[in-house]
Amino acid sequence: MDRIKNYIDGKWVESKSGETFRSINPARRNEVVGVVVRSGREDVDQAVKAAQQAYESWRLTPAPRRGEILFKAAEILSRDKESLGRLETREMGKVLSEGLGDVQEAIDMGYYMAGEGRRFSGETVPSELPAKDMKSLRVPVGVFGLITPWNFPIAIPSWKVFPALICGNTAVLKPSSDTPVCATKFVEILVEAGLPKGVLNLVHGPGGEVGEYLASHPGVDAISFTGSFDTGKRLEGICGAIHRMIVTEMGGKNAIIVMDDANLDLAVEGAIWGGFGTTGQRCTAATRLVVHRKVYQKFIEKFRKRASRLKLGDGLQKETHVGPVINESQFNKILRYVEVGKKEGAKLILGGKACQKGNCAEGYFIEPTIFVNVSPEMRIAQEEIFGPVVSVIQTEDLEEAIRIVNRTPYGLSSAIYTQDVNSSAVAERDLETGIVYINASTIGAEIQLPFGGIKHSGYGRKEAGGRGGALDTYSRWKVIYRDFSGRLQKAQIDK
Ligand code: NAP
Repeated sequence: MDRIKNYIDGKWVESKSGETFRSINPARRNEVVGVVVRSGREDVDQAVKAAQQAYESWRLTPAPRRGEILFKAAEILSRDKESLGRLETREMGKVLSEGLGDVQEAIDMGYYMAGEGRRFSGETVPSELPAKDMKSLRVPVGVFGLITPWNFPIAIPSWKVFPALICGNTAVLKPSSDTPVCATKFVEILVEAGLPKGVLNLVHGPGGEVGEYLASHPGVDAISFTGSFDTGKRLEGICGAIHRMIVTEMGGKNAIIVMDDANLDLAVEGAIWGGFGTTGQRCTAATRLVVHRKVYQKFIEKFRKRASRLKLGDGLQKETHVGPVINESQFNKILRYVEVGKKEGAKLILGGKACQKGNCAEGYFIEPTIFVNVSPEMRIAQEEIFGPVVSVIQTEDLEEAIRIVNRTPYGLSSAIYTQDVNSSAVAERDLETGIVYINASTIGAEIQLPFGGIKHSGYGRKEAGGRGGALDTYSRWKVIYRDFSGRLQKAQIDK
């Protein structure tokens, strides 16, 4: 079993308090994945100080050189992909193929951001005056506090660390206390790739103490947070009060519309993987299915039949389709929501129970759960459950379906299955979410385009690549005007 330390100023160190906490395998509660140092304010102080000191030389390191280190990190991630994927399954519970996919996202992000080191461009534009030139430059922001959740335990740290570093910032990473070992392996890889000391620091510990102190620390210039709406909103308040930039990526209540002309088999597959992939623990999970009246019964039958064949178990076992949920508190919360759904009058047609036998005896397993006859305003159709619970809602037509999708506090991802190009165009125009999929599920974003939501799903700028993506989040514009009319005047006088 690993002992997991903080990484501060180029050294792996214990926390000041000497206290520890345990990271466990949610599929086998008795298996401890790591014993982790529990940090406090003093550890954060040291990490921020190291990041401040390193900033002076890192910001002056040419961006292509910074990119070379990121490129090397991506190579090491590729080399270690299999073992990292297995670690993700042990620590977070997702099935191995998804664990490997998560690592692949980090690899892709590493290569992509390494390339940005050579494309880091601004603009030059003509001046209104004959002896003046002007340009805009991207410059780093300073020290970033990066706070990450457990559901993509390597990909999300990489989505923040790689762009922050390529832009010339230094950083303090505070990962989820449910997946500290994955985050630590990721930092180890950057160290192996040659990252200078102090550029990236890692501090483990409870979010309410360590994360909140980091967000309000006077030595930090900006915060990038991914996690729940409640935490994100709280941090937005803290940062707003001290005029600190913050970017938040938060929850979702994503929906798939299934129209009467949809390819139902395709739509069922999308609903299965959107609803039950990662055990429903994706910010983009398809937790609502808004299905046209004409195909409602047929769709439900197919969907139920397909979902009932999903096998629960340890994600390292080949036959497993759906792993455990992350921890006891999520386990209890999800089961409470099942009771809420029943009380609200929705009809439970599959699952709804914990599974504690056979492969599932030792972990936090909940059966894939389907509610039908759900009305859009029910709590199970409005609130983020973050587990394998899907609500099916009937709709009359496209316009009503779009209204239902839009009528939640969230706005991250949505999808429509239809064969009609006009319906897809209307959906693309009118769905109020950061991401819209046509004939694909609500999951599967790629890093070459900006990622993020609106309303309660996100605040501030976006993540990932493309125009308006992470470079805009992790750098700021500096505009330079140069007036050389003095030189012209001198030339005229000399003449
Ligand atoms: P969370 O409870 O909000 O925690 C996220 C991170 O914030 C963790 O590192 C946590 O540390 C820390 N934290 C908790 N309380 C804090 C506080 N008061 N101040 C500062 N930091 C604090 O969320 P989660 O359960 O880890 O993740 C699930 C949520 O993330 C879901 O809502 C999901 O939709 C969302 N998510 C969104 C995206 C997106 O891109 N939109 C992607 C993935 C996940 P501890 O672990 O130590 O508590």
